[in-house]
Order: sequence, then C-alpha cells, then structure tokens
Amino acid sequence: MSDAAGPNRVLVLNSGSSSLKYQLLDMSDGSRLASGLVERIGEAGSEVADHAQALERVSRELSGQGLGLDSPELAAIGHRVVHGGTLYTEPTLIDDAVLAGVRELVPLAPLHNPANAMGIEVARRMRPDLPQVAVFDTAFHSTLPEAAWRYAIDRETADRHAVRRYGFHGTSHAYVSRETARLLGKEPEEVNVIVLHLGNGASASAVERGRCAETSMGLTPLEGLVMGTRSGDLDPAVVFHLHRQAKLSVDEVDALLNRRSGLVGLCGDNDMREIGRRMAEGDTAARTAFDVYVHRLKKYLGAYTAVLGTVDAVAFTAGVGENSAAVRAAAISGLEPLGMILDPVRNTVRSGAARLISADGSRTAIAVVPTDEEMEIARQTYALARGGSAS
Ligand code: AMP
Repeated sequence: MSDAAGPNRVLVLNSGSSSLKYQLLDMSDGSRLASGLVERIGEAGSEVADHAQALERVSRELSGQGLGLDSPELAAIGHRVVHGGTLYTEPTLIDDAVLAGVRELVPLAPLHNPANAMGIEVARRMRPDLPQVAVFDTAFHSTLPEAAWRYAIDRETADRHAVRRYGFHGTSHAYVSRETARLLGKEPEEVNVIVLHLGNGASASAVERGRCAETSMGLTPLEGLVMGTRSGDLDPAVVFHLHRQAKLSVDEVDALLNRRSGLVGLCGDNDMREIGRRMAEGDTAARTAFDVYVHRLKKYLGAYTAVLGTVDAVAFTAGVGENSAAVRAAAISGLEPLGMILDPVRNTVRSGAARLISADGSRTAIAVVPTDEEMEIARQTYALARGGSAS
C-alpha cells in the first residue's frame, strides 16, 4: 500500500561472492514483507550462473507474492557494501562514480567488494529509474579519532597503502547503540555504550554519545575478539614465525587465521551451542575455547571502559550475544568493581525483545539488544532516497 507521501517499500540486498540475501521492508510500519536467500551462485552444477540470474530469481520470488521488483510501491534499493574506505563515510546515493569507487576499494576487501559491486550493477540494470543507496559496513566507524584508527607503524608506508583501522559491522553497532539508548529512555547523544556484536564474526565498539570512539576490527575483520573461525588479536610476529619456521605461504597463513582459527581452531566447533553441550560432558578442548573467548571479551570490556570513562550500558547482540546466557554471565562475572553486575534470572529469560539483564544496583546497565542490519540499511536508504539526511 502506498500512502499519500509516495512509495514506501525498500528492498535490501546483501550480495556475497556466491549468495544473494534479500529483505523487502515496508517503511510505513517497519514490517518485513518478504525475505530470502539465493545460494551457490556460479558454483558447478548450480542453476544460478551469476548475480544477474540470482536477482531475476529474487524478482520472480517476490512477484509470486505480488511484490515484484517492477512494483511502483518500491521506493528504493539499499545495498550492503562491506568496505567504504575513507571515501564513503555515509550512506551514499549510487551513480556510476560510486559504483567505480566501490570497485576501487576492492584491494581492501577482495572477498566482499567485488560481489557487492556486482549486486549493485545488476540491480541498477533492472531498475535504472530507482534510487539505489550503498550502506557501508565501515561508515559508522569513520568518527574514530586518529589515536584510535592509526596503527603505530611507519607513517609513510601506512598512508601510501591505506593501512589503518577501519572497523566493520558498523550498521549493527549503529543500530544496537541507538536501540540501547532507547531502552534506557535516553537519546543516543546522552549515553556511552559498549556494543558486543558476537556472531560468527565478532566485534566490539565503544560508542560515545552516539559516535563511535573505538572498535575492535581493523584493516580487515580479522582483528579483535575471538570469532567462530578467526583468531582475532595476536602478535603479528606469529605470521613471520609460521612463514619462516612452518614454511607456510602468506595465503596459507591467511586461510589459517581467517578460516581455521577462533573457536573452530581451538576445539573443532564454531557453534556456541555445540561448545556448550561438549562442556557439559566435560570436554576440555571445548572448555578452553570458551575460556579463551570469554577472556578476550573481558579484556575489551576493561579497555573500552577506560576509553569511555563512564559506561552507561553494555549491549550484547548477534547470534551468541543474543542467545548465550553462559557467555554473557562469564564475560560480566568479576566486573563488579567496574560497576557491571548481572541479574542471573533476567540473564536466563529467553526473549526476542531488547531487554535489561543487569541487577538493580548495577551502575552500568547490561542489555540484550537483537540486531537488525537489514532494518538499519532500509532506514538509511529510505531517508536518503526521500531526499533527507540518512543519519
Ligand atoms: P550470527 O553470525 O549472528 O548469525 O551468529 C551465529 C552464531 O550464533 C552461531 O555460530 C552460534 O555460535 C551462535 N548461536 C546461535 N544460536 C545460539 C544459541 N541458541 N545459543 C548459543 N549460541 C548460539
């Protein structure tokens, strides 16, 4: 249904190298009209040869529900783009120059930006008349002060090769920090929030009065917390050591640290549910994986408390953060001196809603806030497509 102000549906596209995820949202009431996933794009034996065919399939799926891509109710298409570099620090209306810009940034995100650009290209071919917006995973972190984004390496080399902290999951950190303020009955500008986005990929951020002040992912999503398959922080000399002593090539170390490390490297499983089951049976590798994961979280909670000075809230989000009471309890335990006290009963109540899980006497509120990156992309896309400011 179109209201007097014009079409109000937004299609959100998240194109991966071999997948295309979509959601169709109605911005008049925030409802989700359709969602789906096309997989195995371009793989041997797949019926979907490329992203153009994938989008045609999405269009057919939507048409079957009377919601086709040709619908006049569609106001805009929002694209998730992983890397905006220092070029794009805000959601951006896409034209030829922006598409070229996304491609220019491929060296910084060789796995993601080519697929994101492909999604943009095919969607623009299908609906050239429609406003299309790129929402960058790095954008929310563009407010980091130089002391936080600059690595302490040779300045000229770093600048020449664009080596710095960019940060990722920005759309989630933006959404969750704002929703956390709302849960506290405050404006984002009134609170300091530590967001722990704990999914298969994981990152922490320190959000100071609505602006990101520090985040754990760096030049790439490898830095920071222990993740499902990524190591997070380690001594960079581990790379030289593995190269020189174990004779691993750079590509082999890359694969080791990104795909065979983290929880999966420590115990063979990257699903926190399975790790919990194994711990209950006394499995020591699973216990160690859990302990390393939680230890890293605690270090970041302490560090980001020091960065912010005052912490009004800690928000847990994404698959692990929203669902694992055990991880939340272990991460907060012992942090009473920092003003963080969990309520054990509130922590174990299962719910899909944003909720407080701290004890009444806790100086810092502790919250579970389900993330919704598609809604945030749609919101920013809709605002820009209607000619307003997206932030
Ligand atoms: P995400 O990347 O946000 O989809 O998170 C995926 C991860 O969330 C999975 O790999 C699991 O480790 C974790 N997860 C999902 N559901 C649960 C659950 N009920 N309990 C504990 N962990 C969960």
